[in-house]
Amino acid sequence: KVSPSAAPERLPFCRVTEEDLAFFRKILPGRTIVDPDLVEPSNVDWLKSVRGSSEVLLRPQTTEEVSQILRWMVTKSTERCLSSHQTFSHVLFSSYSYCNSRNLAVNPQGGNTGLVGGSVPVYDELILSTSLMNKILNFDSISGVLTCQAGCVLENLSFYLEERDYIMPLDLGAKGSCQIGGNVATNAGGLRLLRYGSLHGTVLGLELVLADGQVLDCLSTLRKDNTGYDLKQLFIGSEGTLGVITAVSILCPRKPKSVNVVFLGCETFEQLLKTFQLCKGMLGEILSAFEFLDSECMRLLNTHLKLPNPISDCPFYIVIETSGSDPTHDAQKLHNFLEEAMTSSLVSDGTVATEEAKIKALWSLRERVTEALTHDGFTHKYDISLPVERIYQLVTDMRKHLGNQAKSVVGYGHVGDGNLHLNVTSPSKDPALLAAIEPFVYEWTASCRGSISAEHGLGLKKRNYIYYSKQSQAVALMGNIKAMLDPKGILNPYKTLPDNLKQ
Ligand code: FAD
Repeated sequence: KVSPSAAPERLPFCRVTEEDLAFFRKILPGRTIVDPDLVEPSNVDWLKSVRGSSEVLLRPQTTEEVSQILRWMVTKSTERCLSSHQTFSHVLFSSYSYCNSRNLAVNPQGGNTGLVGGSVPVYDELILSTSLMNKILNFDSISGVLTCQAGCVLENLSFYLEERDYIMPLDLGAKGSCQIGGNVATNAGGLRLLRYGSLHGTVLGLELVLADGQVLDCLSTLRKDNTGYDLKQLFIGSEGTLGVITAVSILCPRKPKSVNVVFLGCETFEQLLKTFQLCKGMLGEILSAFEFLDSECMRLLNTHLKLPNPISDCPFYIVIETSGSDPTHDAQKLHNFLEEAMTSSLVSDGTVATEEAKIKALWSLRERVTEALTHDGFTHKYDISLPVERIYQLVTDMRKHLGNQAKSVVGYGHVGDGNLHLNVTSPSKDPALLAAIEPFVYEWTASCRGSISAEHGLGLKKRNYIYYSKQSQAVALMGNIKAMLDPKGILNPYKTLPDNLKQ
């Protein structure tokens, strides 16, 4: 176990020079941004919890431009800067303190909606934004495979596909801003994972630019391809530390003909779990989401976003979504399930939506909890995977453990995937509260063999806690992979891997 260092020390990377800027301006005319007011939003994360001090925002439009940027960062500055006694093999990890004193570091950035401080620089790393890489390259309406550039916004892809009777296999509250490249880089889970599985299954191919500027074309559109190692899997969830994702091909499901959303209330978490079991048995193949929030979340939605509770007050709320191909059949199954859930007193109240507007309104109660929390004060966020029967116990134990130290302690998340979002707020940043939460939350999670990051990644904030969920040999192997793919450590430094990585 390691103790987290508040902020890592700046590694000895080059500082950007006029010569660098002249090069970037040549390859990215009008897209090399140095105006501090324009760079500032990219220096701050969505939660406004971490802030970098980058002075340069690069906005490439093509894979070739990304390749030229990275080639310059490692090769040009190395030629200029690397002192003669250093060789490339010297700059391979040495106790994880990079010896590559003269290279430029880079922070790949998508929609900047990440929640673990991975998307913004820590110091003056150059920001490489994929926002202008937003072209759809191909859609095959027979196979349902979409191929697009990494900077396509998730919601825009959804709109594009819906017009063609398909949907994206993932959906999340940040869909209006997050980009498919960022989704892949974080291996985002979200609201449809229960039905369509993780990006490790639905992403069929990736195009990447490696740290030395090489383009790695793994942009396959095949569902089956067992020719050697499946390299793309390494980059799914690598949080910009192994390569820059420039294009993605992804398998998309047909748009369901009938969608129903049910919002239910339960008196206890045990009843909620029994409802989940019943739901899996009775809804089977049409079940597409099973999400929950507690009464504290509902209180925050009412108070901060003025969203009304559509049913009577309950300790727990469930959002169930069904998606199928036959409205009559789906309605009948849902009716049978609701009748059983009500008569066996598993749920105490509920409402059903079949029209688009009401479906959206019910979903927003679940999707906007993250936003409601930002209005409640400083938020400590924990994204935990646990055996499903234990997930709410952590919230209860945390409340007991903190007593009146916290303003709110809330739990919500993806029950169907055993994924709890535990959030603790305080009126302002409070080091004493943080010391009470951590490492308690991580020890608790490790004692159930859970994961300290179910879907958000480790980024800057969680990197030093990796050992609570991963064996040290596994972490060391990750370090070797990083050293092989990015020997100078220029890609998203200070993120994902722990400071004290053992070699
Ligand atoms: P960014 O935030 O810009 O970057 C995230 C990480 O990916 C960084 O480390 C960055 O360096 C790297 N990166 C970005 N683009 C690239 C690229 N092209 N190549 C290489 N590395 C890259 N997450 C979930 O998993 N499930 C949820 O349900 C969910 N709900 C959310 C709801 C809200 C309201 C918010 C604000 C966030 C939510 N998130 C959720 C977290 C976040 O939206 C996801 O992590 C998302 O996938 C990040 O995408 P992005 O484009 O914003 O990436």
